[in-house]
Amino acid sequence: MTNATVHPLYDTYNRAALRFERGEGVWLITENGDRYLDFAAGIAVNSLGHGHPHLLKALNDQAEKLWHISNVYEIPGQDKLAQRLTENTFADKVFFTNSGAEALECAIKTARRYHYVNGHPERFRIITFEGAFHGRTLATIAAGGQEKYLEGFGPKVEGFDQVPFGDDAALNAAITDETAAILLEPIQGEGGLRPFSEDMLRNLRRICDEKGLLLILDEVQSGVGRTGKLFAHEWVGIQPDIMAVAKGIGGGFPLGACLATAEAAKGMTAGTHGTTYGGNPLAMAVGNAVLDVILEDGFIDNINTVSLMLKQGFASLTDRYPDVISEIRGKGLLIGLKCVVPNTDLLQALRDEQLLSVGAGANVLRLLPPLTLTEDEARVALQKIEAAVAKISAENKDKAL
Ligand SMILES: *Cc1c(COP(=O)(O)O)cnc(C)c1O
Repeated sequence: MTNATVHPLYDTYNRAALRFERGEGVWLITENGDRYLDFAAGIAVNSLGHGHPHLLKALNDQAEKLWHISNVYEIPGQDKLAQRLTENTFADKVFFTNSGAEALECAIKTARRYHYVNGHPERFRIITFEGAFHGRTLATIAAGGQEKYLEGFGPKVEGFDQVPFGDDAALNAAITDETAAILLEPIQGEGGLRPFSEDMLRNLRRICDEKGLLLILDEVQSGVGRTGKLFAHEWVGIQPDIMAVAKGIGGGFPLGACLATAEAAKGMTAGTHGTTYGGNPLAMAVGNAVLDVILEDGFIDNINTVSLMLKQGFASLTDRYPDVISEIRGKGLLIGLKCVVPNTDLLQALRDEQLLSVGAGANVLRLLPPLTLTEDEARVALQKIEAAVAKISAENKDKAL
């Protein structure tokens, strides 16, 4: 029996009344033919924009050959993508997943198993930071520690200790004989583009080395070129022991990965972990194609060039409209505008100008365009953003009169 008045989807999203039919590069086109500049990119997912010819070809070619095969067989695309990820990072080992949360689950299990096989099963606790976001599974909401995501879902998964951001005393006090690892996003994404400073990251690496803890980085949002380096931690030059990756690596195809050093991954022996879909041939074809483009000479340089141009434009807006935005945050094309007005007002004003953006904590508005954004497209974006900001500022003045 059905009830016609009840919408058949779960009500977990407050969806905007926008229906996109297709995408072309940095543009999304609605069923009515309206063109929106996509500065959300599926929340840092469509790293090469929409309909990128190299991704289309890779996916189509693979689709004609083989979609899925179990992980009990060899999957050459996995060997290739893992080889390239390890060649270009600190890591020696890779496990492929379908999502960021699953990459984090693998990271958490890897850290716990490391201490277990070292003879310390009591070392299973993981320290995380206030403002973190690590996903929506039961373990990752416990890791993220945000009450709004934990409420009503029963006892919080045991083994996560959260400390305030930048509070060294609290961090030191939280480390016990049961601590396995420290987990953090080098730049907090959902938390409002709050970066760990170079000093903080070096300090965390040092503490982990001294106490035998593993350093786990969540680069699900900040990775794969997003900040103007292949991974955000490269800006500081520290190396994690384990890293979770997803979003941009799949360019829109569900794909995540947990990367680790051989030492950190030594407990993850045959039978300890698994996935049905993770690393399937379609995902591997697309992941390899994404890397073909991102690792091309000059591709990441261009991210930094376009980022500088956008940031100069935003700096000028903060000067001229201090009643609307107060600060520019982030790196590369992971940019946040700290708002004076509610960030939802700016999000809506930008949507009226047909530019899509994403909210974040701390009243920040996130701008996450495809990494293929050109300077010409960035100029169009700046015009739209200026129009929206100027409109809000004018409304503010009208209200004050
Ligand atoms: C999006 C995100 C996740 C969760 O990824 P899903 O693919 O939604 O499971 C985890 N960590 C960070 C930093 C993210 O931005």
